[in-house]
Amino acid sequence: MLLFRGAGVEVFALTEREGPQRRPEELFPRFDRYLAANVLARMPLSAFAPATGRLMHTYQSFLLRLNQQVILIDTCVGDNKARPPHFGYPKFDWPRTFKQTGITFEDVDHVICTHLHVDHVGWNTVLQDGKWVPTFPNATYWFGEEECACWEAQVKAGDDLAGRIWTDSVLPVIAADRARLVPMNHRFSEAIRFVGAPGHTPGMFRVDVDIPDGKLIFATDIMHQPLQVRLPEWSTVFCTDGELAVRTRKAFLEEVADSGAILFPEHFAFPVAGRIVSVADGGYAYQYLDGQVL
Ligand SMILES: [Zn+2]
Repeated sequence: MLLFRGAGVEVFALTEREGPQRRPEELFPRFDRYLAANVLARMPLSAFAPATGRLMHTYQSFLLRLNQQVILIDTCVGDNKARPPHFGYPKFDWPRTFKQTGITFEDVDHVICTHLHVDHVGWNTVLQDGKWVPTFPNATYWFGEEECACWEAQVKAGDDLAGRIWTDSVLPVIAADRARLVPMNHRFSEAIRFVGAPGHTPGMFRVDVDIPDGKLIFATDIMHQPLQVRLPEWSTVFCTDGELAVRTRKAFLEEVADSGAILFPEHFAFPVAGRIVSVADGGYAYQYLDGQVL
């Protein structure tokens, strides 16, 4: 699905799953009924389903055609992988929406993994004759050094899920000699920079893309939900260091507010893209490109 088209750039969303998922009290340890009520009341159905009290949650990747290059940012949960039951939903939407873009797996030049959580690395590999092989045969895959080091430490410590992710979605790419491990704040090209955004995981980074008339920011999991723009103190149960995630989120909101930068937060539902704007109470809000403010 095309989300954005500008000078020399197209951004597509590849959606693996979209729909209601957890209740806010399950996702946010700092949940407060009264604070939440205020914010949720202004959320559209694409962000919150009041009938069930569940937040909408999207698993998606972003596919960019930028000048002559094809870049894929994060790769969802993937297929045929031994994962917790919660990730057992059908996966055919991802390859289907990929195909609709007119771009093939062979066309992908770069795959960028912002962090190594289960829902960001899955389509890195596919099962071929009982072996995991890179899905994008001609691509270079980019990983954060710090993130990989922390993952290796978890695997050594016996973490089962981390071990599976590392073994089926990262190691085969390294073995095929298609991986590049880079430090935080790596300058990928003249226009693209990986900017450290630690907290959700220790080595997570966002991807900033300069375009002729502005800036696109692939904001990964700095925010999981539009609600966190209004309530930046709320980290999720999935954040490794919730306090650091709060500091990263607040600094990020302050940096990009009213700058015109267009954000693509990875778990926001369609139409995804928007900007951070200041609001009268001194905080921030999320404004979709069509002008709607959450
Ligand atoms: Zn995620």
